[in-house]
Amino acid sequence: MPVQTAAQAAAIGPDDATSARDGGLLARINHAVGRRIAFRTGDIRPDRPILSITFDDFPRTAGTEGGRILEAHGVRGTFYVASGLFERHSDLWTVAGADAVMDLASRGHEMALHGHAHRPAAAMTAGDFAADLAANRAALRRLVPSLSNESYAYPYGICGLPQKRWLSRTVRASRSVMAGINAGRTDLDFLKSVEISERSLAAVSMDAWLDRLARDGGWLVLFTHDVCDTPTPFGTTARILEATVAGALDRGIAIMPVAEALDRCGIV
Ligand SMILES: [Zn+2]
Repeated sequence: MPVQTAAQAAAIGPDDATSARDGGLLARINHAVGRRIAFRTGDIRPDRPILSITFDDFPRTAGTEGGRILEAHGVRGTFYVASGLFERHSDLWTVAGADAVMDLASRGHEMALHGHAHRPAAAMTAGDFAADLAANRAALRRLVPSLSNESYAYPYGICGLPQKRWLSRTVRASRSVMAGINAGRTDLDFLKSVEISERSLAAVSMDAWLDRLARDGGWLVLFTHDVCDTPTPFGTTARILEATVAGALDRGIAIMPVAEALDRCGIV
């Protein structure tokens, strides 16, 4: 397990390419090129609009509060786990431990890959990236032996061309932080997603996204981090998450984890 400095621990959290802990100019170029080149695509045309709610980095409150809210409505979410960060404390939050991974998986939530060390893909060599992904996968599969063909979410939303090519061969799909609804021909290694957080909701309300999804169809993936009364700028209150879940169900939108949504769209 890599040793993490206090500065790195403090950097845990915001999955936002624009905040760019991205390893300099070459990494930025690698990301900019990588995001534009698709190695495989899928045709996303579900018979009913789909919403997936995902939690990055897995702060404890995502599991306790986020899991509770989803389960109260009879639905489940996807947790993108950076397995090297278990139980780490930072200025933002405390990351959940291995026990929470096992507990939530046993209750039907999906566990998925977010890098072992939570490093931006473009800032790693292709070899280091593959090793980090393998460590992430091995750690999760030890905890949840039933896992197979997991999906991945890019830490900080940052990809990279060789890294994305590797993902296209080794994981089921990868999620970016580029806002939008997935519909029609879609890059499976750069799925769009919309942030549900204190900092983003002022700009565009979640109701508007849900209205658009219900009207136009497709698959909307949301992502957030911590869930509590006083969340970080990267997390959300229980009230907003609750309203989002209820609002989606009221509109006839089906809520399901990422793996189930891919199943529903016929993507293996
Ligand atoms: Zn992250």
